Amino acid sequence: MVSRIIPVDPFDLVIFGGTGDLARRKILPALFRRFCAGQFPEGARIIGAARTDMSLAEYHAMVAVALSEHAEGRECAPGTVAEFLNRVMYVATDAMGEQGWSALSDLLKPTASERQSVFYFSVGPRLFGALAERLHLHGLAHEHTRIVVEKPFGHDLESAKALNAVLAEHFDESQVYRIDHYLGKETVQNLMAVRFGNMLFEPLWNSQYVDHIQITVAESVGITGREEYYDRAGAMRDMVQNHLMQLLCLIAMEPPAKFDPDAVRDEKLKVIRALDPVLPHHIVRGQFEACLDPGDPHPSYRGSVGNPRSTTESYIALRTHISNWRWAGTPFYLRTGKRLKARSSVINVMFKDAPHSIFGEEAGRHANLLSIRLQPNEGITLKVTIKEPGPGGMRLVDVPLDMTFAEALGPDGEDPPGAYERLIVDVIRGNQTLFMRGDEVEAAWGWTDPIIAGWNSRGDVPKPYASGSPGPTDADLLMRRDGREWRGINP
Ligand code: NAP
Repeated sequence: MVSRIIPVDPFDLVIFGGTGDLARRKILPALFRRFCAGQFPEGARIIGAARTDMSLAEYHAMVAVALSEHAEGRECAPGTVAEFLNRVMYVATDAMGEQGWSALSDLLKPTASERQSVFYFSVGPRLFGALAERLHLHGLAHEHTRIVVEKPFGHDLESAKALNAVLAEHFDESQVYRIDHYLGKETVQNLMAVRFGNMLFEPLWNSQYVDHIQITVAESVGITGREEYYDRAGAMRDMVQNHLMQLLCLIAMEPPAKFDPDAVRDEKLKVIRALDPVLPHHIVRGQFEACLDPGDPHPSYRGSVGNPRSTTESYIALRTHISNWRWAGTPFYLRTGKRLKARSSVINVMFKDAPHSIFGEEAGRHANLLSIRLQPNEGITLKVTIKEPGPGGMRLVDVPLDMTFAEALGPDGEDPPGAYERLIVDVIRGNQTLFMRGDEVEAAWGWTDPIIAGWNSRGDVPKPYASGSPGPTDADLLMRRDGREWRGINP
C-alpha cells in the first residue's frame, strides 16, 4: 500500500518565530519532509520572520542545521536541502513594532490573490493578538489568509474569550487554525476510522459494554526550556485542558453525520458540555521529586523551575463522567505527568466482563481491552480471550490482535507523515477538521477553571512522587476505591 501524495495549491507560509525552538524542531522539518515527498507546488515559499537581524545566508545555515538534527525519517535525494532552501526566505519582523512589515507586505501582496497566505504564530501567546492586528493594519488579513495559532490558547476562560475576540475582529473563524499536534497523529485519525468505519465496535461503544476508559499521556522528560511558562500553567492547563480533552472528545463523541470540520467539532463540543464537574476527591495532583540515581541525576520539580515554594502540579490523575445516554455510568480516568516511568500515550477502552462464564471460575475471567497507542509505536491492539493451547482442560488466556501501522502499511509503505506535516498540509488545503474551534476551547476552559479555582481556594498542595515512577500512590487509590487498576505505563 503506497500513500498517495496529493499536491496542494500554491502558498506562502510565514513562520512568525521562525528562529524559535518549535520552528527549528517541528515546523521546518515537517515542511522539508513534505517537500521531499513532492507535495510542494512550483513557487511555494516559506518565510521565516523574527526580530533577530540576520542575512538570508545566516537563516539558511540555521535551517540546514535544524533539518540535519530534526528531519529524520525520510530519505531525500542528494541536493534536496539546497532545493528546499531555495524556497526559504527570511524577513526580520517585530510583532510589536514596525520593523519588517513593509518588506513582508511587498513580498506577499503581489501574489496575494493567486495563492494561499498562511501565517503561523509560533511565538509566545502574548504576541498572538498583536500579530493579528498588524496583519490587518498592513493589509495582509484578507480572504486568502489563514492563521495558525499555537498553544497555549489562553490561560483561563476569560483570557481565551479575549483572544478569540481579538482574532475575530480581523479573521473569520474559518480562517483560524488552533493547533493541537495530538490531533495530527495517525492513530487519532485511525481512532475515528476504527469507530466509524467498522460495524464491529460502534454497537459496543457505550456504558452497557464499556466498563471504563483510561487515557494516559505520560512523559519521561521533565521541564526544560519552558520553566517559567510551565510553573504558571501546570499539567492541568498544559495537558489536560487541550490534549487529553481532545482525546476524550474523539473517543466519546457521537458519530458525526459526515467527516466534515463543523460536524466533527459540533460533536466534540457536545462531549465537553456534557462533562460533569470533577469532585475534589476524584482528582490527584502530584509534583516530582529529585532523582538521586548517579546514572540519571536531576532536580525536583521545584528545583527545575527554580521556585522552592511552587505548588504547581507536574502530574494529574482524575475521574470524570459524561452525562449523556451513551456514557452515563462509565467513568473516564485521565492521567498525565512529567518524569514518569516511560513516555507513553495510550487510550485503553476496558470492556465489561462476560456476564457469565460457562467455563467455570477456575478457567479465569478476561475482559476485552482495546488499546489505542499514540506514542511510541502508534497502533491499535484488541485483546481477545482464547483457550490456552495444549491439553489440560479449558483454561483461558488473552491474546492481542495487533495492528501496528508500520506493518499494516506493508513493505512498500511510506512512513506515515508526522503530526505537524499532516496539520500544516491541512491548513494549506483549508481543512479544519483536526483543529479546535473557538467555542470548543472556551468550553474546555469552562470545565477546567472551577477545578483550578477549587485548588486555589483550598490551598491544595500536590503530592510528591518519585521521578521514574508511575506517579503518586494516591492516583492508584483513586482507581482502587472503584475496584479498578491503572494499566502499566510501558514504553
Ligand atoms: P522560543 O524558542 O522562545 O521562540 C520564540 C520565537 O519568537 C523566536 O523565534 C523569537 O525570535 C520570536 N519572537 C519573540 N518576540 C518576537 C516579536 N516581538 N516579534 C517577532 N518575533 C518574536 O519559543 P518556542 O518554543 O518556539 O514556542 C513558540 C510558540 O509555540 C509558543 O506559543 C509556545 O507555547 C508554542 N509551543 C511550543 C512548543 C515547543 O515544543 N517548543 C510546543 C507546543 C507549543 P526573536 O527573539 O529573534 O524575535
